[in-house]
Amino acid sequence: MSEEAMILDGSAKSKEIQDEISAEVEELKEEEGVVPKLSIIFVGDNPASASYIKLQQRICNKVGIESEVVDLPEEISQEDLLDELDKLNNDDEVNGILIQMPLPDHIDDDKVIRAINPDKDIDAFHPYNIGELVIDGDAYVPCTPEGVMELFDRYDIELRGKDVTVVGHSNIVGKPMALLLLNENATVSVCHIDTEDTASYTKESDIVIVAAGVPNLITADMVKEGAIVIDVGINEVDGEIVGDVDFEKVKEKAGAITPVPGGAGPMTIAMLLKDTLKSYKEMLNK
Ligand code: NAD
Repeated sequence: MSEEAMILDGSAKSKEIQDEISAEVEELKEEEGVVPKLSIIFVGDNPASASYIKLQQRICNKVGIESEVVDLPEEISQEDLLDELDKLNNDDEVNGILIQMPLPDHIDDDKVIRAINPDKDIDAFHPYNIGELVIDGDAYVPCTPEGVMELFDRYDIELRGKDVTVVGHSNIVGKPMALLLLNENATVSVCHIDTEDTASYTKESDIVIVAAGVPNLITADMVKEGAIVIDVGINEVDGEIVGDVDFEKVKEKAGAITPVPGGAGPMTIAMLLKDTLKSYKEMLNK
């Protein structure tokens, strides 16, 4: 029988990154007298979003990054929302801007995304940042796939020449994930809802990354012995948070695997901090 998979501990690695950021922020605070600041636009009162924002603020606070939530009513007009965004775009004290999704139906997401100042767009919603990612430029990348790359890096997992399947092709996870992997010369397949036989791709892959939002989508028979399995999914099932992978069974077969919670999630938050700090340093040098 094969050994159990190594657990890729996103919580521990996130904590490591937070400590590094905290030390750097402390130093910069002494030199500059100001700390980095993250602003989060939150429209409406979705409870899941509210608790995620609270968590982000708690972690910002822990590392010395200032955070503010711009709370806006569900019925805000498109124009007023863009005005609020513009204030943050032009505020020299704001380094990172996050727009909590989803926005209400009457708001045109695309217009809002295109209105973010790309230099403060730390989760890389703006087409400018996504374009830079396509050409492997130096810009922000969406924090979740960035966090997965950081996890590979911190566990010394080589990507060059590896066969990788990404399951899910959203603009914020699957597509940028595939681009980041291509930029490292991995051979990448992307599966999605209309892929006829996802298992035929995952079974042949050295690394499988899943971001579909479907519990138990990836079962043990779908992964190769010794493969690395990264589970980005977050689903609530019977009051518990689970990923997209049948964790208990897959960990018997995989070489390494991320748990949910405690895998990709905490790495995303670490990247939000890292990128807010990056923006702060770039704004100082302007
Ligand atoms: P999305 O709903 O925008 O996209 C889902 C993707 O999965 C689509 O490309 C769809 O085609 C694909 N898909 C759906 N069912 C499938 C199936 N049966 N087989 C193959 N592909 C299928 O979702 P998203 O925003 O990319 O998020 C995906 C998951 O990741 C969700 O569970 C979300 O909560 C989670 N997520 C986690 C983090 C984190 O920090 N860990 C961040 C963002 C999203």
